Amino acid sequence: MRVPLIAGNWKMNMTIPEAVELVNGIKIGLRWPEDVDVVVAPPFTSLKMVSEVAKDSYIAVSAQNVHHEENGAYTGEIAASFIKDAGANYVIIGHSERRQHCNETDELVNKKVRIALKNELKPIVCVGETLEQREQGNFVEVIEKQLSVGLEDLTQVLASELVIAYEPVWAIGTGKVATVTQIEEVHEKIRAFLAKNFSEDVANSVRVLYGGSVKAENSKEILSLPNVDGALVGGASLNSAGFIEIIKSLPPR
Ligand code: PEP
Repeated sequence: MRVPLIAGNWKMNMTIPEAVELVNGIKIGLRWPEDVDVVVAPPFTSLKMVSEVAKDSYIAVSAQNVHHEENGAYTGEIAASFIKDAGANYVIIGHSERRQHCNETDELVNKKVRIALKNELKPIVCVGETLEQREQGNFVEVIEKQLSVGLEDLTQVLASELVIAYEPVWAIGTGKVATVTQIEEVHEKIRAFLAKNFSEDVANSVRVLYGGSVKAENSKEILSLPNVDGALVGGASLNSAGFIEIIKSLPPR
């Protein structure tokens, strides 16, 4: 049985005091233990502080990116071991904003996934099609390519550590949400990909999240879909009350 996961991607928001206030708000506002994994992804600068505040709670912490090399002459970059050292256990990899603004390719995603797993960080690997690809009708092929290159040569044991987030690019930060039919179709294909390329066990254990304008008003319907194991939330995760509402809208298990 997969434990649902709700992750908040704070993107380039939150100073250290704001981050502490937000994580404290989530911690205080939720009755623990809930039957859910909650993850917050602050900017690098508040990773350690948020990890410390979250330490005595069930909230886990994620970075939003990682460099693909172990260490060395990469000015301005952050290594997987530093993220682990700061107290985080997850890392978001291949977010569409990084693919779009920082030219991240599926090959680079694969390197980042490997270095993350080597350092015992759980990768939250983002995939998703652009509006153009959706309209052209080849979105399933686009997502399968992102998965086949991004997850290339992983063992079954390592693959079972992954979290996959399906985030249609046209639904991120736009207020446009994919329909439940569109979401379930892609999530089914992702699970079928995992079964075919790894194993049924991997397909049954990997959480597949939906992301794209999820908020309290639409989360209940999305989170009740059979192949949706949680959500990656951007804008609506910047407010503790709204984020908690989303967590509470998970169907009872
Ligand atoms: C995201 O950043 O991963 C995201 C889904 O953003 P939003 O919820 O704001 O669309």
